[in-house]
Amino acid sequence: MKKYIITIFAFLFVINNLLSQEKNNFEESRKNVVEKANDSIFKISKHTYAIIAKGGGGNVMAYESKNGFIIVDDQWEDLEPTIINLLKTISNKPVLYVLNTHFHFDHTDGNKTFGKNGIKIIAHDNLRKRLLTDQHVAPPVDVIQKAYPFEALPYITFSDSLTLNEEEEVIKIYHVNNAHTDTDSFIEFQKDNVYHTGDVFVRYGFPFIDDNSGGNILGIIESMNNLIEKSNDSTLIIPGHGPISNKKDLINYRNNLQLIVDRIKEGIANNLTVAQIEQKNPTKDINWYNGLFVTSKIYAMIIANPIMKKK
Ligand SMILES: [Zn+2]
Repeated sequence: MKKYIITIFAFLFVINNLLSQEKNNFEESRKNVVEKANDSIFKISKHTYAIIAKGGGGNVMAYESKNGFIIVDDQWEDLEPTIINLLKTISNKPVLYVLNTHFHFDHTDGNKTFGKNGIKIIAHDNLRKRLLTDQHVAPPVDVIQKAYPFEALPYITFSDSLTLNEEEEVIKIYHVNNAHTDTDSFIEFQKDNVYHTGDVFVRYGFPFIDDNSGGNILGIIESMNNLIEKSNDSTLIIPGHGPISNKKDLINYRNNLQLIVDRIKEGIANNLTVAQIEQKNPTKDINWYNGLFVTSKIYAMIIANPIMKKK
């Protein structure tokens, strides 16, 4: 429980920092977050490590192969030395590849340094497209994420999935349709039975969904259903933010989101207005942080339902 609360505060710290600043003071708020960072590394399976973020950045994962590390997400540009130093406590091998789970700055900003150092970045096609131009990350984050320079962009991109074939592991990065954003991927370490979900799955409560970038709650639920089906009781899940999790945590998260969607759908079926649905409090009795839930946003996602249109 204590860990859970710390995670919520870490996330709110980022949100509050960003909210309290003018958009052009983004650099200053980023500095504040980075200065408070206090990350630690844990061995979680035969070859994988989790760097759990305590200062507001996203969680990082590392796979140790014979020749070097393959890492998932790289937090903030200034934290690259922190990541490198934590990896050095394991071995002096170099970082070979960076995989990005989605385009948000608290997960991909380190691309600027890793990319400059010649490390190849791998991500979904949409992620590269978004990083090419300035992006307005939706409220309440509400910041302009500036276009990235060429070296910080993914060098290798894919449309559905891509596999890295290690001697002792199969690492699969696969796209998830319109969930937290339209750039999301899950990374699966098949033999070690570990996943990194990016921000499609988080542990601070109701998730931030970037509806300026194709995010949709229905996509989150769909991807959780698939992941729950693929998981077993020993599967370990690294969320975008928060502690190392398991299948039960995925089920709990999915059930809460499904309950909220069902309540809003019921309101729609009964011809209620957004205000009337809001009055009924779709998150009632859901025992997690609901501060990022906005009825009108979720209502719009259910009405628009891009997932249904795509298929
Ligand atoms: Zn995100």
